[in-house]
Amino acid sequence: MTLTLDSITKTFGKTTAVQNLSLEIPEGEIFGLLGANGAGKTTTFRIIIGLLEATKGRVYWDGSKVTYEKSGMVGYLPEERGLYPKLKVKEQLIYLGRLRGMKKADIVKELESWLERFRVPEYMNQRVEELSKGNQQKIQFISAVLHQPKLLILDEPFSGLDPVNVELLKRAVLDLKENGTSIVFSSHRMEHVEELCEHVCMLQHGTPIIHGRLKEIKRSFGKKNLRIHADFDLEYLKHTDGVLTFSSVTDGCVLQIDQETTAEHIFHTLQGKGFVRKFELEEPSLNDIFIEKAGTSYE
Ligand code: ATP
Repeated sequence: MTLTLDSITKTFGKTTAVQNLSLEIPEGEIFGLLGANGAGKTTTFRIIIGLLEATKGRVYWDGSKVTYEKSGMVGYLPEERGLYPKLKVKEQLIYLGRLRGMKKADIVKELESWLERFRVPEYMNQRVEELSKGNQQKIQFISAVLHQPKLLILDEPFSGLDPVNVELLKRAVLDLKENGTSIVFSSHRMEHVEELCEHVCMLQHGTPIIHGRLKEIKRSFGKKNLRIHADFDLEYLKHTDGVLTFSSVTDGCVLQIDQETTAEHIFHTLQGKGFVRKFELEEPSLNDIFIEKAGTSYE
């Protein structure tokens, strides 16, 4: 079931939150929506699940709107986390699972397995308010996936989590994808998106500035990064033809070069100058591409 956004525009008074956004999110894929604060990510999600009406344009899921009947097939982790603080984790999830038409016994079984997986089985009977913020987030993630949705929308799922929990959640997201769930998630962190997504879209002021298959975006960018670690001064490379930028790093430098043959040429110039410990041609990062397209750094 493909999710299609067809020329979506959303305005709030004079503010245009999303402008003419068209996306196609293939079934069983992880799609990454990137963008700085206020770029329009949350608004896009709210439109997808029908919490907001688009000012213009349409959203189709499997050819028609995400209606109430279909909402049971959708999971949503909103950016503003909201569980009932006084309720126990089990009570809370039984309540939410029942709303989605699940049987109590199935809810408890699923919940047990998720808590086990997230290494917190003891939370079953704790009140939400007793858990740390990051751990509440894990519980809310479970509430978004408990009913095995076909479409999962995750607004900043990794924010505020420690590295171990980020890994646990990433693994869970990848497994859900393997089982056929289409996942759309937003993030400020380019490395999460690079790691998980085949397709990405980067919004700036509500408009997509980068959009498509990640591999394709990188390939068509052309420029690459060349990392060199050496025991001698590499500053002379600043003035080599085809070197677009030069940054010093510990042990050496990273150059942005225009094409692969420039790397070949540089390789020859290094001969006889001293010991080279690393010479590596890297794909451009999404950040490099963003800087070029937006004319400014992302963070
Ligand atoms: P963040 O990363 O900070 O969560 P975002 O990319 O999710 O940002 P949105 O929350 O979608 O961005 O906001 C996009 C723009 O729309 C912002 O300028 C915001 O102020 C505006 N906006 C969002 N919701 C409303 C609303 N209900 N009323 C008025 N303006 C709104």
